[in-house]
Amino acid sequence: MRVYLDNNATTIVDPKVYEMMEPFFIQMYGNPNSLHRFGSESHPALRCAMDQLYKGINARNEDDIVVTSCATESINWVIKGVYFDHIVNGEKDHIIISEVEHPAVSATCKFLESLGVKVTYLPVNEKGVIELESLKNAITPTTALVSIMWANNETGMIFPIEEIGKICRENGVLFHSDAVQAIGKVSVDVQKAGVDFMSFSAHKFHGPKGVGGLFIKDGQKLTSLLHGGEHMGGRRSGTLNTAGIVGMGMAMELAVANLDFEKNNVKRLRDKLEDAILQIEDTFVIGTKEERTPNTILVSVKGIEGEAMLWDLNKNGIAASTGSACASEALESNPVMEAIGAEADLAHTALRLSLSRFTTQEEIDYTIEILKAAVTRLRGISSTYSYAPTWHKSGL
Ligand code: PLP
Repeated sequence: MRVYLDNNATTIVDPKVYEMMEPFFIQMYGNPNSLHRFGSESHPALRCAMDQLYKGINARNEDDIVVTSCATESINWVIKGVYFDHIVNGEKDHIIISEVEHPAVSATCKFLESLGVKVTYLPVNEKGVIELESLKNAITPTTALVSIMWANNETGMIFPIEEIGKICRENGVLFHSDAVQAIGKVSVDVQKAGVDFMSFSAHKFHGPKGVGGLFIKDGQKLTSLLHGGEHMGGRRSGTLNTAGIVGMGMAMELAVANLDFEKNNVKRLRDKLEDAILQIEDTFVIGTKEERTPNTILVSVKGIEGEAMLWDLNKNGIAASTGSACASEALESNPVMEAIGAEADLAHTALRLSLSRFTTQEEIDYTIEILKAAVTRLRGISSTYSYAPTWHKSGL
């Protein structure tokens, strides 16, 4: 059996999305900016997709959304654009992010730090979420931007976005949220959240890879990063990815239509898996079920390296993740667990299981069986499972 429980990394393309995209590869392949019919025949589908996108996040209209190549691009654009507009050519010198942002945010800020920008990395509490008081205290008269994620990719913890938006508004600071892990999992409403910018990526909500979006509130100024043929109203140049845009639009519509299914059915399966895992001795999950996106579990299985567990699961056809970068051969600890204050031993035992609306009951039953057997086997051969690591910050 093959079970895919790594949906926070990427998702299967919904067959309905694939169907919508197909004609734009070998039939309607013209450049939408061309004046002939090959170009213009894709316009109705592009218009429909832009409608699906802005309606999906409750933006004012399609002018508030620019399509990009991925969330990494959207995020780079916001942070570097704000740098050009308000730091290089303005009075500001400061950006605030959380300690648990995705590298698309944190690495971009590190780069700006090398150019002299001051960056505050807000610490997180034992659940991996920032405290509003620490945000209030960090804002100064020279703060240009606050960038805080909507939901965390590792833990699934949902951040208090509306409250953060309110604090930013009260202090006249721009607010960007990385909503990559929120779209299709919880309701995302840019009006209610009060964000100035918001990034998303189609492949995280059953759309294609290589296409993402950036919400820019009410024509807010943002210097372009990609100059060229003045596509997307001159805001982002580059020939439009017609199939990708059409696919992302359909994926957004389906994601919103399936929110109740996510909240009820996906969550029911996730909770079943979580309850079964927590019956195993010495296992911990970060955050309560209600505080997280309905599809995600970050579990720590004491005494078992995350990678060892992954290997065992993979051998049995189950795909999961440890959440570490995995770019090197070295065994890495989970960065969010580290930020939470888990001791290194425990941070090494993280296992992320992320479901989707395509996950079945049968797959979860099989995973429970394999996971229990893996824990017994790996603890049996582990020389390290004799001590009891503690959480030095939270006492969890
Ligand atoms: N932000 C978060 C929270 C993510 O989980 C990811 C991808 O894992 C990204 C940003 C980057 O998305 P993409 O790879 O589509 O650029």
